[in-house]
Amino acid sequence: MTYRVGVVGGGQLARMMIAPAVELGVEIRVLAEAEGMSAALAATAVGDYHDADTVLAFARGVDVVTFDHEHVPQPVLRALVDAGVAVHPGPDALQFAQDKILMRTRLAELGVPQPDWAAVSDADGLQEFVDAHGGRAVVKTPRGGYDGKGVRVVSHGTEAADWFAALAEDAHGGRLLVEELVDFRRELAQQIARSPRGEIVAYPVVETIQRDGVCSEVLAPAPGAGGRLEDVASAMAGDIAEGLGVTGMLAVELFETTDDRLLVNELAMRPHNSGHWSQDGALTSQFEQHLRAVLDLPLGLTAPHSPWTVMVNVLGGPAEGGLAERVPAAMAAHPGAKIHLYGKDPRPGRKVGHVNVAGDELDEVAYEARAAAAHFG
Ligand code: ADP
Repeated sequence: MTYRVGVVGGGQLARMMIAPAVELGVEIRVLAEAEGMSAALAATAVGDYHDADTVLAFARGVDVVTFDHEHVPQPVLRALVDAGVAVHPGPDALQFAQDKILMRTRLAELGVPQPDWAAVSDADGLQEFVDAHGGRAVVKTPRGGYDGKGVRVVSHGTEAADWFAALAEDAHGGRLLVEELVDFRRELAQQIARSPRGEIVAYPVVETIQRDGVCSEVLAPAPGAGGRLEDVASAMAGDIAEGLGVTGMLAVELFETTDDRLLVNELAMRPHNSGHWSQDGALTSQFEQHLRAVLDLPLGLTAPHSPWTVMVNVLGGPAEGGLAERVPAAMAAHPGAKIHLYGKDPRPGRKVGHVNVAGDELDEVAYEARAAAAHFG
């Protein structure tokens, strides 16, 4: 018998599940949005994930359906479950990764620490929140945001007029999420895997460094983690995974505040950029772990095999020529660097690859990773 996993979405996260699937003898199929996507190395069907019949037909050939992104509409997910398809994470969990207001509401019920927040339906409501939080706040579109798109710092209720206008047409109630502007020392991410049978394993908590709202680097583990920080972060992620019924990989993005609190920023229920370091730095990569979890297989050890691993994203790529042309020089100069390219065309700001370096000294590891990634800029 062969395990068969179907991944909805043809991006780099689906692509990076392919290597461990091959190694494990797991058959992996992808439902891609278009021809020639990043994950087209696997058996690929092209179809619209908004269409229940398309996704149902895709699901017929696999044992479990999982995802490269969180955008499959709830009615499509429910249709899969109603048809007896194993879906991990399932719709009840995924709704909290699809809608930030639902997420904030549920985390509040679970008593998970998070920034002060409110759901506001007009400029007056927004102004009221801004006034009560020191004159500035962060407004977010509850659905469809990524890489900082859909996040705006405002000091006046009128500064989100375009988003309120767009939401008025929306079937989801037309509210925006507003949060206090958190005074954070740094951003962290805690990843955890949970299988349908309830087994849970946590990865080391990592530091994520953002530029222009996009993750640029990850330091694993987060410098100074261990002890209390590690315990608090992993316990928090465990509570969330159980409270929300998450299956597969869960990433909990956290703010470490200047007064030493950990607050949840947002959740991702799939492999996540903050976990790419694990491909070359942990006993079990997040991509293998996700496959194991959604197949309800026993989970793998998450321990790092080096004291430090640093991941640096390749954003945009070279202004001229392709990424492949840069590979020989990068390899020659940095033989210890592990280069990962996604088969995507360079475009400003686009995530087209990353570099991992593991080793004993954080400064050296970070230098190597940055220098190797710079070959692709
Ligand atoms: P996305 O869904 O686009 O990734 P996030 O909610 O993660 O959006 O926000 C993107 C970035 O904006 C965060 O990584 C953080 O740097 C900043 N940010 C988000 N929310 C807040 C907040 N409440 N206070 C301060 N900074 C924030």
